[in-house]
Amino acid sequence: MKRRTFLKTFPAAAALTATAGIVPIAVMADGHGTQVVAAQKFKIGDMIVTAISDGYFNMPLNMLQGADQETIAQLLVAGHQDPANFRAAVNAYLVQSGGENWLIDAGTGAVFGPTLGDLPSVLSALGVQPGDVSKLIVTHMHGDHIGGAIADGAALYPNAELVVTKADVDFWTSKDIQAQAPENFRGAFDLAMGVIAAYQDRLRIVEGEADLAPGLVGRPMPGHTLGHQGVMLESAGDSLLIWGDIVHVSHVQMTHPEVTIGFDTDQELAAKTRADLFASLVKGDQKIAGMHMPFPGVGYVEKSGEAYRFTPATWDYL
Ligand SMILES: [Zn+2]
Repeated sequence: MKRRTFLKTFPAAAALTATAGIVPIAVMADGHGTQVVAAQKFKIGDMIVTAISDGYFNMPLNMLQGADQETIAQLLVAGHQDPANFRAAVNAYLVQSGGENWLIDAGTGAVFGPTLGDLPSVLSALGVQPGDVSKLIVTHMHGDHIGGAIADGAALYPNAELVVTKADVDFWTSKDIQAQAPENFRGAFDLAMGVIAAYQDRLRIVEGEADLAPGLVGRPMPGHTLGHQGVMLESAGDSLLIWGDIVHVSHVQMTHPEVTIGFDTDQELAAKTRADLFASLVKGDQKIAGMHMPFPGVGYVEKSGEAYRFTPATWDYL
């Protein structure tokens, strides 16, 4: 049984588990209990970062470009994945610092169907209500990152400043560009315009390496969208680079950074940004987190022969 079906069928049970601080992200129909892992906390210096799973989507592999389908399937099999049923994670990150709650990306909300949209219930289980979030920092304006910023067209986070890049706002709110976009991409522009409208009175538009919050700096990483940015967190000598959508399918793109995805606004630039970032990351020991890396999506990029590999971070006992 899909968890949405379960939650609808047994609202009392859902309320009970939410009260207990447990969010069932999958309920086994055969009495094997619940999968409760939907959030994982770790420390970056004095900051507490929580990886939050918004869910997953089934990604058709023909979305990937720059390698033939057989090679892509082989890479997934080598990564212990089923190429016919590849599930891409959708993660967001909560940063708690100095008594503030900052959310990096908002998940999908109601935009992408029943396997997604968990972020608000996970936040609630963490004891964070929408009104407690003072900044919603967006890596880029795609639906799986901003869909959850609104509910029924209204801002879901009533006290949050929405922080977005100028290049993304310029692109995704342009009626001219929307009119030239393929039909199935036009809804993405409507969504972006709806989010901007909902947060119009507390919108902050940034450019370049901008200070987003104390200890948080935006790093332009263009290509996936023109205004796509990473967020660098620094606290007490520790750091984390939340790289947004630098990687969508780690089993493929770590070894083949030249492989792009149909959602990239500028495929060539996206591939270059990814390759350059990987090359710079292996020179240091930078912890990273990614919105589509396997949950919780936190770890390190390492050199592996001529290519790269991702090594997940170990559990943090805080
Ligand atoms: Zn994405």
